[in-house]
Amino acid sequence: MLEIRSLSKSFGGVRATDNVTLDFADGSLTAVIGPNGAGKSTFFNLITGALKPDSGQILLNGIDLAGRSPPEIVRHGIGRAFQVASIFPSLTVQETMLAAVCADQRKASVLHRRFPLAETRDRAEHAMELLGLVSKRNRTAATLSHGDQKLLDIALALVLDPKVLLLDEPTAGMGTEERWRMIDKVRELWETQNITVVFIEHDMDIVFKIAPEIVVLCYGRILATGKPDAIRRDEAVIEAYLGT
Ligand code: ADP
Ligand code: MG
Repeated sequence: MLEIRSLSKSFGGVRATDNVTLDFADGSLTAVIGPNGAGKSTFFNLITGALKPDSGQILLNGIDLAGRSPPEIVRHGIGRAFQVASIFPSLTVQETMLAAVCADQRKASVLHRRFPLAETRDRAEHAMELLGLVSKRNRTAATLSHGDQKLLDIALALVLDPKVLLLDEPTAGMGTEERWRMIDKVRELWETQNITVVFIEHDMDIVFKIAPEIVVLCYGRILATGKPDAIRRDEAVIEAYLGT
C-alpha cells in the first residue's frame, strides 16, 4: 500500500537517497537499519514531506504524495515521530493531545464534518491510554522523562489516526531496560491498531527479535531487504554493516 518508486535526494554531492524502490505491505512491521549517514532519516523526511525529493514517487494507496506539504501528507494518513522528540515543552500531556486533535479539525472541515467536543476528548484520551500516559496527563511535557517524551511524540502522531506510522529511532538515548519497554509498546501498537509501522533502530538484538521485515540502507541505497534470517546471512550486509 505504501510504494516508493525510484526515490532520490541529493545534498550537494551527497546522494542521501539514491534511487530507492520499496514496497511496504498493508499492516506490515518493518525495521530500517544502516550505518550512520546511510540516509535513514532522509528517507523518512522525504516520505513525510519535510524534504522534497529530486525525483521519484511516494504512492499511498495509489496516490502520489511526493513533494506535497507535511500537513497534506498527514491528512493522507502518514504519521511520524522524530529521532529527537518533537513536543511542546510548556503544554501538559493532555493539552498536547487536545491541540493535535483540534489542529486535525481542518481535515474534518474539509470533509464537511466537525468532530464534536466529546469526540475530540475521546480521541485524546484514547491516544494517552495507548501510550500509557494517562497518569501523567497534567504534567508539562518538559518535566517528563526522556522515555515519556518519546512516548508523547508517538501519541501525537497516533492521535491523528494514521494508516502508516514512521518512527525515527524510538529507542534513541535509552538504557537497555527502557529500550525493551519502548519496543514492546511499538509492537503492541502494531498488533492492536491496524497500522503499518516502519521504524529506524540501531540495536540489532531488537531488530532481529521483533521486526518481521528488515530494510538495510547504505550510502542512500538499498543493500538488502527481507526477513531477519535472510538478512543475518546476507553477505553484503555482513560485510558492510554487521561485521564478522
Ligand atoms: P541517517 O539517518 O541514516 O544517519 P541521514 O539521512 O541523516 O542519515 O543523512 C544521510 C546523508 O545526507 C549524510 O551524509 C548527511 O550528512 C546528509 N544530509 C542529511 N540531511 C542533510 C541536510 N539537510 N543538508 C545536507 N546534508 C544532509
Ligand atoms: Mg537518522
